[in-house]
Amino acid sequence: MDYRLIYSSSENMEISKKIKSIKGSLTTELFEKVVELKARGENVISFTAGDLYCDISDNIKKSAIKALNNGTNHYTNTVGIKDLRKAISERIYRKDNIEVDIKNIVVCNGAKQCISNLLNVILNIGDEIIIFNPSWRAYSEITKLAGGVPVIIDLYEEDKYKIDLELLKSKITSKTKAILINNPNNPTGKIIDEETLTKLVEITVDKEILLISDEVYREIVFTKNRFKSLNSLITRENRNNIVVIDSVSKSNALTGWRVGYMNVPEYLVRYLKLFQSYTTSNVNSLAQVVTIDAVLNDEDFIEQLRNDLKGNRDLTYDYLKDISKMKLDQKPDATFYIWANIKKIEKNSILFCEKVLENAHVALVPGIEFGREGYVRISFANSVNDICQGMENLKKYLL
Ligand code: PLP
Repeated sequence: MDYRLIYSSSENMEISKKIKSIKGSLTTELFEKVVELKARGENVISFTAGDLYCDISDNIKKSAIKALNNGTNHYTNTVGIKDLRKAISERIYRKDNIEVDIKNIVVCNGAKQCISNLLNVILNIGDEIIIFNPSWRAYSEITKLAGGVPVIIDLYEEDKYKIDLELLKSKITSKTKAILINNPNNPTGKIIDEETLTKLVEITVDKEILLISDEVYREIVFTKNRFKSLNSLITRENRNNIVVIDSVSKSNALTGWRVGYMNVPEYLVRYLKLFQSYTTSNVNSLAQVVTIDAVLNDEDFIEQLRNDLKGNRDLTYDYLKDISKMKLDQKPDATFYIWANIKKIEKNSILFCEKVLENAHVALVPGIEFGREGYVRISFANSVNDICQGMENLKKYLL
C-alpha cells in the first residue's frame, strides 16, 4: 500500500463548514508572535495573560501527592466524584447561602467545557443564545459549534456597560434558548448589580428560557459586597431557569488542571451526562480529588491572590493614567484586566497592538477579540517587575 496516496487524498478532503465558521483566537496568535520576538532575543513583556503568574498553594501540592499515593487511576462518575460534588455544594452554601443538592452539580473540564456541554444539550440547529459584547470570544464560537446562533447585544462605555432590559426583551424570539452573562466580566471588570440580576431572572422565567451565569472571576473582586452570585437568587420557582458556572482556574490558579463545575436544573443532568460520556468522559480523576481541597481549604491562598492582584491593579492603573491619550474607566472592581479606550490614538485595535508590540515590546490584547474596536485589554496578572518595566516602555512610546 502506498501511504503517500492516503495522505494526499485526505489533504483534499473537504473540511466541515462548521469548523470553518469558527474564528481563531487573536490572543493565541499574539502569544506566538511574542514567542517569536523573544526567540530573536527581544525583551517582550506580555500583558495578555488570562492565566495567573503564581504557583499553587503548598496545601494543594500536598493534597496532590496524597491523592496520587491513594490510587486515583480509575474512571469516575462522568459528572464528577461524589465527594467533589459535595465539596462544591458546601462551597456554594458557604459563599451564597443556598443549599444545592449534589444532584444539581456537574463537573467538567473547566468552565469552558461546562458551557460547551450545556449548549450542545440545549440547542437545535438555528436556536439562539443572547450574548453581551464586549465578551469572551469563546461564547459566540462555542454557540456556533453547538449549532446555534449567537445574538449579540452591544453594551457601551457611555452606559457603564449596563444591560438595557427593554432592548434585551426585544431580542428574545421563539428561537432563543438562553441568555448568557459573565459576572464579573472579562474584559471590562464590571459587576452586574443585584437589581439587574433579579430582572434578568424575571425575564428568563417569563420567557421560559435559561439564564446562564459564568462566574469564574467571582473570587477576584476588589470591592467588598459588590458581587452577588446568581446562585443566591435561586428559588423553587426559578430553579429550572438558572445555571451557574464556576471553576478553580482563576480562583485557585489551577487553569491547567481543567476542573470546572455548574449548578444546573436536575432535568438537564442526565443529558449533560450523556453528552460528556461520549466526548471526554470524566475529568482527570487526580485533579478531581485535589479539587476537593481547593474548593474547601484554600481560602488563605485565594485571599492572598486577591490582595496581590489588587496591588497589581493599582500599580498598572497608575501608570496608564499618565497616558492621557488612553481613556480609562474607573479602576476595575473585579477580574485581572483593565479595559482601555484607545480611540484617540488608533481605532483599529489590531494595528494598535502590532505597533505597540513592535515599538514598545509590550503585548496587549486587541479589543476586537472581545467584539469591540477602539479598545485594548491589559492583563495585570503579572509580576510587579514586569508590570513596571512594561508600563515604562508603553509610556515612553505613547507619551
Ligand atoms: N470564562 C471566562 C469569562 C474566561 O475569561 C475564561 C478564561 O479566560 C474561562 C471562562 C475559562 O475558564 P476555565 O479555565 O475554567 O475553562
